[in-house]
Amino acid sequence: MTSDRRTFLGAGLGIAAAATSRNWGLTANAAEMPSRENIRAEASTDFGHLIHREPRAVAQPVSPEEVASQLRLARSERLKVAARGQGHSIYGRSLSEDGIVVNMGRLSSIRDLQADRVVVSAGATWKSVLDATLPQGLTPPVLTNYLGLSVGGTIAVGGIGGSSSRYGMQTDNVLELDVVTGDGRQLTCSAESNPNEFDAVRAGLGQCGIITRVTLRLVRAPERVRRFQLFYPGLTELIADQRRALAEERFDQLQGAILPDGAGWRYQLDGAVFYDSNEPPDDKALLKALSDTRSAAVISDLTYGEDAGAFAKFEALLRSKGQWATPKPWLLTFLPGSNAEKLARDVLTGLTPADIGPFGRITCYPMRTQACHTPLLRLPDESVVFPFNVIRMPASDDRAATQRMVAQNRSLYDRLRSAGAFQYPVGAFPMSQDDWKDHFGPSWARFAEIKQRLDPANLLAPGYEIF
Ligand SMILES: Cc1cc2nc3c(=O)[nH]c(=O)nc-3n(C[C@H](O)[C@H](O)[C@H](O)COP(=O)(O)OP(=O)(O)OC[C@H]3O[C@@H](n4cnc5c(N)ncnc54)[C@H](O)[C@@H]3O)c2cc1C
Repeated sequence: MTSDRRTFLGAGLGIAAAATSRNWGLTANAAEMPSRENIRAEASTDFGHLIHREPRAVAQPVSPEEVASQLRLARSERLKVAARGQGHSIYGRSLSEDGIVVNMGRLSSIRDLQADRVVVSAGATWKSVLDATLPQGLTPPVLTNYLGLSVGGTIAVGGIGGSSSRYGMQTDNVLELDVVTGDGRQLTCSAESNPNEFDAVRAGLGQCGIITRVTLRLVRAPERVRRFQLFYPGLTELIADQRRALAEERFDQLQGAILPDGAGWRYQLDGAVFYDSNEPPDDKALLKALSDTRSAAVISDLTYGEDAGAFAKFEALLRSKGQWATPKPWLLTFLPGSNAEKLARDVLTGLTPADIGPFGRITCYPMRTQACHTPLLRLPDESVVFPFNVIRMPASDDRAATQRMVAQNRSLYDRLRSAGAFQYPVGAFPMSQDDWKDHFGPSWARFAEIKQRLDPANLLAPGYEIF
């Protein structure tokens, strides 16, 4: 044990989650407690299973004050610190080699539910937020497709969902944040109070502080969702109908995907209409003049809660097929709307369904940017952009193959970036500091200045390798 580690673990601030029983809040049956090694092993990797970095210790704070003490101690010992929500990032972004991982799982309370807002601790999942708000007929305006992500984890990157055309990103729907800075100070920020810090933390990739508490905006939840999955023979037909549906605002949510289909692809539009039971949608009008293969259309009708949680079924399927814990070399981007079809086609030309895997997909759909105002979220400067995400689910755990996919992601990124696209920064490929400077563009200087002020020893979120 190094002297650093002795000091760190010995200080007894809840840091040594892996070291002292006190930090686990001893249960009657000690055998049920995860072992120190299991805790560190879990914190050594993430959902992507591409990067492995073993932390020196895992902290499990139960209060923002504890996060602050842990960060002060980490600073005194020059240890890098990564917050970890649900560990669903895929390229080591929540890892900290020989440093500290702050597992936010115990900071998950949901309180002060009002008609237009709710206060949640950053380790809470979106599922638990929805479970708390829906009985009151309320919902966050934007939910991620998968609800098993933590609030802090998606606020750190942006948080896109089916309703982003209307409401922007999840970061656009945050009213206030409590943050612990890299030097261990507790700070409250919002558009009115400490606005620079507010802007540096939302979609700030965890660089300027650990978010401990979030006040989220709420809107009225619809009762039901009718979802239309429409299929097309080609990309041109899909994108033409997506653009039409977006322009005419036919759906409350509009997404879509390119799906592996044997040796080729299937093209899918996914539109959803929210409604209350007494006012069902007019299917005929919604689908009028669309050019899909109508006999293949799948129409489902669920409660809002069932629809929001539908990804859980896909998760269960992937788990049952042994595909949930395999490597996930994903690439996530935003294409400029003006040349999205050409760029998507270029990428598709170089990919085979085997590059995606039988359970993978390429999500591809137009999204309005008018409601996206988060300064650090980089989007092409156009009124419509296309989220274009290569969601690879390799059929096997072949290391060499996944490394080739990561390398392919990098070259695809270079091509797309030079055509005006941006990455949604949760993908799997290496980025240098110059790449990050290019990514943040005009926001870089300000971001770097606030980083220096809030995290002067550059301890936070080392997995991004930005500073
Ligand atoms: C199956 C799946 C589905 C997904 N669907 C969507 C989707 O629909 N929309 C979307 O936008 N994204 C989606 N993502 C991407 C996801 O939003 C990001 O990977 C997100 O960062 C993961 O959240 P997490 O809680 O697991 O964070 P982690 O992986 O634990 O952390 C991610 C990053 O955020 C930092 N961080 C975590 N908590 C905090 C905190 N409290 N304060 C400051 N920094 C923090 C970490 O240090 C790390 O750098 C999906 C990912 C997966 C695996």
